[in-house]
Amino acid sequence: MDAAAPTTPAAVELVALTKRYAQGAPAVDNINLRIASGSYCCLLGPSGCGKSTTLRMIAGHETVSSGDILLENRNITQLPAAARGTAMMFQSFALFPHLTALDNVAFSLKMKGVGKAERHKQASNLLERVAMGHLAQRKPGELSGGQQQRVALARALITQPRVLLLDEPLSALDPFLRIQMRAELRRWQKELGLTFIHVTHSQEEAMALADTMVVMNHGVIVQVGSPHQIYNAPATEFIAQFMGGHNVIATGAGKVAVRNDHMQIASSSGGAPGVPATITDVEYQGTYVLLGLQAKDSAGAKSVSVMLPEAAYASQPYLLGEAVHLSWAEHHAHALAA
Ligand code: ADP
Ligand code: MG
Repeated sequence: MDAAAPTTPAAVELVALTKRYAQGAPAVDNINLRIASGSYCCLLGPSGCGKSTTLRMIAGHETVSSGDILLENRNITQLPAAARGTAMMFQSFALFPHLTALDNVAFSLKMKGVGKAERHKQASNLLERVAMGHLAQRKPGELSGGQQQRVALARALITQPRVLLLDEPLSALDPFLRIQMRAELRRWQKELGLTFIHVTHSQEEAMALADTMVVMNHGVIVQVGSPHQIYNAPATEFIAQFMGGHNVIATGAGKVAVRNDHMQIASSSGGAPGVPATITDVEYQGTYVLLGLQAKDSAGAKSVSVMLPEAAYASQPYLLGEAVHLSWAEHHAHALAA
């Protein structure tokens, strides 16, 4: 991840990894990535960009067309899923409804032929570890969403994985539970000290969770960095638009991204550089007021947005249809690669 520190142990390393399905462009096209040990890594990108294919290749649920997958410097590319040292947590936890929490957690040991006393001992240790020991005899239907997630976590951990793989684990939950559950995932990841690789199409979820975000598009990696790095310096127009909260503005020299909370708005230009715009929308959001504008930059007309703190808007409430001047400090304009 960090070119300046090549000795940082990588939990997972992808080397020229490629997946071609029967037809069309490769689903994953020659990607290279080092995921630091003990980190929370989110693979982020729009639907169809190759996130799940990448995760399934790491898990051993999908064959590799070319390239290699290393886990702690071991080449696992050709190993069966169960021999890799990875475990998968699925969407909505996918617990067996007719089994108790204890038997759900013990399930994969049962499949391996581990005797009942031993598998129950290991399963109850893990349930204790995720603070679920007292609910071991409940079935999933008798547990809250948060408790189910902990059972799913314990079930994934029973194989003692080095890396936990999560494919959109929160996307089927209602918004309130989703935010609670992601805080728990983050907490457990830190507490267990494991490497998590979490696939999501939600930039908000990735920013909330990740130490490292890996943004993908059309089967390739387009940017790797911390949420702060990527949000403040999106490399391309695609990333700026996908992350949201940015305006992409064409200046004479090229395109720049400016965060919508870094835009200044004034009744007239007073000679300051910027672009003319007309207010088309005013949305009260509590802490902020979100203004929609139709602006004119060097490439033509475009929609932009401006976030104003509530008090700033209250002191000068712009009206629908009002002509204004938009500007930004030079250091807030981030140049985008073509
Ligand atoms: P994501 O998880 O980012 O939404 P996927 O990895 O599921 O994307 O899919 C990437 C591309 O590969 C898509 O174009 C998808 O249609 C294609 N794809 C995924 N799985 C298969 C498959 N089993 N057979 C053929 N094409 C597939
Ligand atoms: Mg997917």
